[in-house]
This record gives sequence, C-alpha cells and structure tokens, in this order.
Amino acid sequence: MFHLWVNMDGKSKKEDLEKLEEEVINCQKCSLWKSKTNLVFGEGNPSSEIMFIGEAPGYHEDKQGRPFVGAAGKLLTELIESLGLRRENVYIANVLKCRPPNNRDPKPEEIDACYPWLERQIEIINPKFICTLGRYSAYVLLKIPINMSTYHGKFYDIQNKLIFITYHPAAALYHRKILEEIKNDFLSFKKLIEDKSNKDIKRQQLSFW
Ligand code: SF4
Repeated sequence: MFHLWVNMDGKSKKEDLEKLEEEVINCQKCSLWKSKTNLVFGEGNPSSEIMFIGEAPGYHEDKQGRPFVGAAGKLLTELIESLGLRRENVYIANVLKCRPPNNRDPKPEEIDACYPWLERQIEIINPKFICTLGRYSAYVLLKIPINMSTYHGKFYDIQNKLIFITYHPAAALYHRKILEEIKNDFLSFKKLIEDKSNKDIKRQQLSFW
C-alpha cells in the first residue's frame, strides 16, 4: 500500500477548479456546446497526485454531467480500486468537455479548442501521475500519434509528471484481450506509483538528515 498524497493547498485547488468550471460552462469554442445536455468538467480529489484523462463524455456522462459513469466507468472504478485506491481519491477528466454526437471520434479542431481547459485543470491539480485512457488523451499530452498496441503500458517523464499510457476502458468492454492488457497495465501503473513514492520518501529522509 502506498501513501495517498494530500496537499495542504487542497482548499485553494478546489476553489480554483470551481472558478475554472464556471468559465468552461459558458464555452462555445467549438460546435459541441450546441448538442450537449450537460458539460462534463471532471470530478474527484483536487489534491490527488493521480489524474486519469479519457477522451470525451458518452451518453450517460452527457446525461449526468459526470465523467465515466456508464459501463466503461464501472470498469475504470474497478481498475482504480486495483491500485488500492477509491475513485474519489483520484481526479478524472476528459480531453473534451462536451459529448460528440453519437459518440463519434473527436475532431482535431475540437481537441485544439478544448485542450486549453484540460491544460488549466492539470496546472491547478498538478498531479505527479497522469494515466491517459485511450489514444486521444495520450496524443494531446505526448504530441505524437499513438498506436495503442505499441504504446500501452509505457510511461514518459514530461515536465516532472509521469505520463502512463493505457487503453480506454470502453475498448476493454467487448475485447477480452484488451481487458487482460488493461488489467496488466494497471499492475505496472501501481508499481510505478509505489516505486516513485518510495524514492520520494527516501529523498525527503536524506534531505531531512
Ligand atoms: S467541447 Fe470544449 S471547446 Fe467545445 S464547446 Fe465544449 S468545452 Fe468548449
């Protein structure tokens, strides 16, 4: 079991996220605002050092205004629990905050329009670990086209954040092989978190003495 980090500035992070959400709620930077039912800003612990980023809201998310609440969300919750955490311990968001009609893939211009909101969320939360779920979130953070079968289970150190890549849970719902792979990826992700946490504790002990 690794430490669950809670920063002392949790209150201001919560307030900053609330202020940001107030801005995003009026966003019309791409056409998706017209067809959405609810904006899906994101949810979770603003002080968490672990953030999950998916692609875009689907049918259930659009109806409820919350990320990952359908069948894929149930699987994500189980995967988070396999890390020894509860869903409310982490922060969950998407690249797009409004649902693309019929769950079609996000268009490049929609990603470009919405990405600055995600960037600001990441800036406020300032997580140590970001787990990207699917190729779109990996693409926006790594800035390279992602082939999931090659990149899943790998991590990259970018600006002092460890970016871990895995499949979108929706892809695992109907493909047994991907389900096995995503479960294995989460085992690797857990080890990555534990190793980094242990190193940080040792470094703090050394600097203390
Ligand atoms: S998807 Fe993003 S950029 Fe497009 S309207 Fe919604 S919040 Fe704005």
